[in-house]
Amino acid sequence: MINNKTLISVLRDINEEIQTKKEYLTDLDNKIGDGDHGINMSRGFGFINENLDELKDKSVKQIFSMIGTKLMSKVGGASGPLYAMVFLKGSTFMTDDDVLTIDNFQQFVEDASQVIIRLGRAQIGDKTMLDVWKPLANELKHTHDKAKLLQLIVDQANSTIDKMALRGRASFLKERSIGTMDPGCASSEIILRHLIKAL
Ligand code: ADP
Ligand code: MG
Repeated sequence: MINNKTLISVLRDINEEIQTKKEYLTDLDNKIGDGDHGINMSRGFGFINENLDELKDKSVKQIFSMIGTKLMSKVGGASGPLYAMVFLKGSTFMTDDDVLTIDNFQQFVEDASQVIIRLGRAQIGDKTMLDVWKPLANELKHTHDKAKLLQLIVDQANSTIDKMALRGRASFLKERSIGTMDPGCASSEIILRHLIKAL
């Protein structure tokens, strides 16, 4: 279960890993995109991290909403608005009394998948971040075993290496997009791993 205090420390950990992996994420995006994914993620989560103090007395719902607003204002590209809407949507079904239980997390991941499908017009297998979010949403219907969920998101991110991109900038490269992990799957794996571990 993630309460507001746990969520703040999870956000700190996510930011730390994103900053450490900024170059790795950018390298992935250099190979099949425009090389800004690490920069985008580092800017967005760095900005959230700088403002964690103002989240101290907020509910999980309010923190999700503020993550969305901050990502929307700081992160450009395709991933900024997508991640922003994922968290904004996540804030809508909770009440201020709610903590993030595994059941709430399941709904968050399912709603997030629907947001990515709707806004990105992506389908599973298109080599976008949806390839981590939607299979996780499906798996959560069958198991809440954390080890299995953590393995699934790693496997799903890895599965994009051999795929050809059909959405986003990487799709311009057609066959040449094969051989590199989708950068958005790499960042999604980081975010979701920290949340799942804390649940
Ligand atoms: P941009 O592609 O605009 O440079 P980023 O580099 O920050 O933005 O993010 C790229 C990631 O965004 C991709 O790796 C992919 O996971 C995700 N993405 C891009 N376009 C789409 C889309 N249409 N649907 C879903 N996800 C997308
Ligand atoms: Mg990019």
